Amino acid sequence: MTIRDSFGRPVENLRVSVTQRCNFKCIYCHREGQLLDYSVELSAEEIERIVRVAASLGVYGVKLTGGEPLLRKDIVDIVRRISGIPGIRDISMTTNGFFLKEYARQLREAGLSRVNVSLDTLDAEKFKMITGVDAHEKVIEGIIEASRAGLNPIKINMVLLRGVNCDEIEDMVKFTGEHHLTLQLIELEHPSEDSFYMKYHVSLDGIEDEIREKSSKIIIRSMHHRRKYILRGGAEVEFVKPMHNTEFCLHCNRIRLTSDGKLKPCLFRNDNLVDLLNPMRDGASDERLRDLFIEAINRRKPFFM
Ligand code: SAM
Ligand code: SF4
Repeated sequence: MTIRDSFGRPVENLRVSVTQRCNFKCIYCHREGQLLDYSVELSAEEIERIVRVAASLGVYGVKLTGGEPLLRKDIVDIVRRISGIPGIRDISMTTNGFFLKEYARQLREAGLSRVNVSLDTLDAEKFKMITGVDAHEKVIEGIIEASRAGLNPIKINMVLLRGVNCDEIEDMVKFTGEHHLTLQLIELEHPSEDSFYMKYHVSLDGIEDEIREKSSKIIIRSMHHRRKYILRGGAEVEFVKPMHNTEFCLHCNRIRLTSDGKLKPCLFRNDNLVDLLNPMRDGASDERLRDLFIEAINRRKPFFM
């Protein structure tokens, strides 16, 4: 049975940051709201143990993220361990795609169901400008290999940046449609509405209206009530709107685990984390970890009410 927080919201998904390390330097990166600390990382065994506790409380979905999750040398082992946990039905990953070509098959075989790959542009020069790395072709090859390996669906995460890639939406719809991928158009988030944000932010509202006009079917997804548009011709497009809103908080069914072993009840806060790493390394029993997990769930509170 799924556990609910004191606001009645079920906790069904665990978003695990397996590392804060990254080989890219994306100009917009928010690093999942985690404070940067590269010094400690949960081991594969520790991640498995925490997911087991989560599953015993009804969590069924696990998303692996980072930093860049494929920088973990033991990432296949992590996926395999999680997929063996009773109750876990859906394991996904968000990656920059750099190492996807070499890992896709092993990840699929280990139990990964689906993958989101960040790709903001189809232009190699722009890609380098955004990520700081000359790896556009390598990422495309990774996406194609992921598709061959049977990861499904594959979502392409495209953060829209004013004056950089907004003119590429049509090309991206075409590219993703041709390769049977889902395009996720993401509105830029920034902790403070600073000069970077003012320069690059573009609202998704007008773009969504245009896509709606071209669509033959609209599917409302349960997660955060996001809409998926099926365009005439078969391409699929989703929109990820800013999370700073009451609707996002109202439907939030996830809890986060930081790479250094802390449960993070809310994306927007770092002052109510529950440490699992030290208790675990000091010999805490499974019951104690379960109590700490419940404590983190009890600390969940909609940030935007
Ligand atoms: N390194 C992996 C990757 O890039 O896919 C996983 C971690 S990354 C933080 C997760 C997702 O957050 C990526 O799709 C990225 O595009 C998105 N993201 C990062 N910073 C963002 C921002 N400021 N606004 C909106 N999305 C952002
Ligand atoms: Fe951030 Fe992901 Fe880009 Fe790395 S690849 S800088 S974690 S968005």
